[in-house]
Amino acid sequence: MKRGFTTTILHSDLESPIEHHSVHKPLHVAVAYGYPDARDLARVFKGELPGYVYGRQGNPTTAALEAKVSKMEDGIATASFSTGMAAIAATFVALLRAGDHVVSSSFLFGNTNSLFDTFRALGCEVSFVDATDVDNVARAIRPNTRLVFVETIANPCTQIADLARIGALCASRGLLYFVDNTMTSPYLFRPKRTQAGLVINSLTKYIGGHGNALGGAVTDTGLFDWTRFPNIHDTYKTTKPALWGLLQIRKKGLRDVGGTLAAEVAHRLATGAETLALRMERSCANALQLARFLARHPKVKKVYYPGLEDHPQHKLAGELFRAYGALMSFELADGIDCFDFLNRLKLVISSSHLGDNRTLAIPIAHTIYWEMGPARRAEMGIADSLIRLSIGIEDIDDLMDDFQQALEQA
Ligand SMILES: *Cc1c(COP(=O)(O)O)cnc(C)c1O
Repeated sequence: MKRGFTTTILHSDLESPIEHHSVHKPLHVAVAYGYPDARDLARVFKGELPGYVYGRQGNPTTAALEAKVSKMEDGIATASFSTGMAAIAATFVALLRAGDHVVSSSFLFGNTNSLFDTFRALGCEVSFVDATDVDNVARAIRPNTRLVFVETIANPCTQIADLARIGALCASRGLLYFVDNTMTSPYLFRPKRTQAGLVINSLTKYIGGHGNALGGAVTDTGLFDWTRFPNIHDTYKTTKPALWGLLQIRKKGLRDVGGTLAAEVAHRLATGAETLALRMERSCANALQLARFLARHPKVKKVYYPGLEDHPQHKLAGELFRAYGALMSFELADGIDCFDFLNRLKLVISSSHLGDNRTLAIPIAHTIYWEMGPARRAEMGIADSLIRLSIGIEDIDDLMDDFQQALEQA
């Protein structure tokens, strides 16, 4: 991408002519596509001619969003899905077989963790290791390892995977390196820089940004040599090897599984994507200022935020990412009830989402980590008073005032 990030995204639709000189790719809601020459329909089916056949496998509106995500990630192709989880699940369905092994991180988005349990029941093996150190990943690799899957910044305690070294390890072993870039978004970090072959983004979070649309995307960066991947079906080896992986993800993941992104939703996400860089700049700046304030406050015991100097991967985060992200967690001082504190916030919303324009807070141990029980929570370092914050784009003085008054009275 030669132009800047925002310019490129804003003008991406106009790279091909649009009917009526519209500056947006319009909504194409048709399920079916009709061809005046039936031979063309057959050619599209065979992949000899570009085109659309049936809405489950995509439409021009989702394709326009996919092109934007490919540009953001500097990738060669992207497939979009109805949610981030649909994108991850469809990719695993498309690429893994019984008897395969995956190496992943012990600090993983809870639903992805639960998805790995499902794949274990289907006959795959999964090793969870502390991915902040590449040596743990290297030790876990086996002859049947098919891919390494990590996130950039972990939720809720913000551990950062050893992204570049894991990328070098995967490259040297010929392994597929699959990175979940949701927490950083392609504005803060491009996993391709650390040799990732596949990147997944939950579009629901920062890329959409407005908390009004669910979506997910898988991007092929073009770096992985698919001829080294044993699970590609012969049917999909008719194209250039660089496209085998994403073709199989589309065919198996989108056509067979059917977690298709709707055109209306794709359009909403594409509109959100136009301001990704501006929103990230603002929410990351807000987060850094707030993290520093909380770290100094006597009623706060500990703050987890990569932008603070005492964060174990502070230096690494500075080298890898454009900013330190907009997600942080903190523990209240002993004796302060987290519900009492949360209920005193007047602006910040108690909610489970993240990556919204609005600042959201959630008591982790009592909500998303409730099911796992106190023993597992203690193992993962999740204190009862731990609160996760997803910082939005509000005016910083209003955010500071809100936290100040709530902490004072708690
Ligand atoms: C939210 C999230 C997902 C799942 O995305 P959905 O769009 O909610 O399905 C995957 N990975 C990470 C890191 C997330 O935060």
